[in-house]
Amino acid sequence: MLRWRSGGNAYLVLMALVLASAAAGLVLSWVSFGLEFDKYAYDFLFRLEQPKSWQPGSIILAIDERTLSRYGGMTHVRAALADGLEKIRGANPAAVAVDMILAEPGASEAEDRGLEAAFAATPRLVLACYLLGDKTWEVPIERFRRHAFALGHVHADFDKYDAVSRDIPLEVAAGRERHWALALETFRAVRGGTIVESPDDLMLGSIRIPSSMRDQRVMRIRYLPVPIPTVTVAELDTHPELAARFQGKAVFAGVTAQAAGDRWLTPYSNTILMPGIEMNANEYETLAQQQFLVDVSPVAVVAVCIALAIAAGLIYAFLEGRAANYAALALALISQVVPAAAFSQRVVWPWLPGTAAVLLAIAMSAGWRHLIVRRELADAGQEKNRYQRAMQFVTHEMRTPLTAIQGSSELISRYGSMPEVKRQQMADLINSESKRLARMIETFLSVERLSAGEMELKREKFPLAQVVESCAQRARPLAERKNIELEIAAIPANDLTGDRELMEYAVYNLLTNAVKYSPPATTIRVFGENDDRGGVHLSIEDQGIGMDKKEVSRIFEKFYRTRRAEQSGEMGTGIGLSIVEQIVREHGGTIHVESEPGKGSRFTL
Ligand code: ADP
Repeated sequence: MLRWRSGGNAYLVLMALVLASAAAGLVLSWVSFGLEFDKYAYDFLFRLEQPKSWQPGSIILAIDERTLSRYGGMTHVRAALADGLEKIRGANPAAVAVDMILAEPGASEAEDRGLEAAFAATPRLVLACYLLGDKTWEVPIERFRRHAFALGHVHADFDKYDAVSRDIPLEVAAGRERHWALALETFRAVRGGTIVESPDDLMLGSIRIPSSMRDQRVMRIRYLPVPIPTVTVAELDTHPELAARFQGKAVFAGVTAQAAGDRWLTPYSNTILMPGIEMNANEYETLAQQQFLVDVSPVAVVAVCIALAIAAGLIYAFLEGRAANYAALALALISQVVPAAAFSQRVVWPWLPGTAAVLLAIAMSAGWRHLIVRRELADAGQEKNRYQRAMQFVTHEMRTPLTAIQGSSELISRYGSMPEVKRQQMADLINSESKRLARMIETFLSVERLSAGEMELKREKFPLAQVVESCAQRARPLAERKNIELEIAAIPANDLTGDRELMEYAVYNLLTNAVKYSPPATTIRVFGENDDRGGVHLSIEDQGIGMDKKEVSRIFEKFYRTRRAEQSGEMGTGIGLSIVEQIVREHGGTIHVESEPGKGSRFTL
């Protein structure tokens, strides 16, 4: 496990970072800045994932500039409309929707009478109504309204910022009066039946129109990639045979002349505006073709954001260098594929949250990785330093016995006539010094073997008190040299099971450390007790230089020595405790240290 220098777990830090990234991505997508991005992404996907063109079920009866000039301008638009309706009647359209607010009498009674007659002769006629700013409905005057199959509102839902029309509210209500959209009423006129409402959708016969009550029953418009067929009234005049194209179609009649100003942007249009009447026809196509685009559930968005962010964290936790970066790139691509794949299934997936979450999480995780690597390098450097110092010490220590051995052996060979007593002394010295060397080497090898797991533990029974006693005997001369009192209190009479030699090594090490790191004229106490779970505790307590918490957390590292220990002038390698800890661990025990700088330390096994 990687650990932060402060002691916290580095993986927990990483986890917190990626979850924060996911949260930030989600929050970003709720603020208006994020919503803007999502709209552009929506338009992009809208163009990218164009549906196959279908045979439109609608047609536009347009009153364009030429028609208006033929009839004498907007003032006589009702005459033009009446003529148009007359001309297509023979083709027997499926329904006729008129996108014109006829809330007042027109320019002349004659024209109104003509239009009324045309309406009367048009079955399944849907007229437009509009909710004014003061929350009152503008509806056709009675003489027109009474011929209508239904009234449909012609509200469009333009984006506040970019004026693009992406959806419409299927329902607009004010006071006790409410109306369905013109396109929906036209669809109902064509299909027959009634609209049945539920919180999440509308049913017309067997057709389910997803449109949640929470969102004003908004429906996204799936614009036909090609223009809706259009025939103008003026064209019908010169080419009456064009009337046949209205056969069985849902007809949307209205003014398309630029001067009418009823033109809007769609996700397809760059700058070319679409007449309002064509938007109505497109709404109709969306309904008739059931080309519904539904929003993904927020729960899924949250889940995917979190999953993407965690994936970014995992990449940097387990991969390194270039591999991590390639994987991160792949993840970023996946986050882009998700909205596109969803859109192809007609599910609108917001682009920003996943993208922001993934990019943030990648940046955070890469930063985290960078710090970790830097720290590992620093640690490795430190370890190397410590190792070198230890090696210097070891070689220095080895020189002493080696010099003695060398000198003695030289003397023996040079002076053949050396007195027997002297020769014996030299031989003993060589013997004891080479034993010391062997012990030294043995110790260093045992560290390596123990940490490599190559050392086999013996399993024998031996009394704890005996171990303590023999260690104390060996350590006493050292203690006496520093005028330190070694006090052995009552040691429990338990037998231990394990490797006696190693156990002795551990206890002896703790004892000699206590002596090494205590000033003269102090006391070292050794005491033990049984705990209630059948275990034995053995404590070695000194009144020495002590350590602070940070130091205590590191003394079991190989080659680590505290600054105070280095300054004490006592020689050491920083290896002993790492062996002690291994030994205790191999025996299934633990080692616990309490210490205070300047006061002393207590090591408990
Ligand atoms: P060495 O004694 O050879 O330096 P150890 O592994 O035995 O190595 O101990 C590691 C370090 O822990 C010591 O260098 C010292 O800083 C600290 N230490 C160990 N025992 C004590 C103690 N009784 N009092 C204070 N510091 C201690």
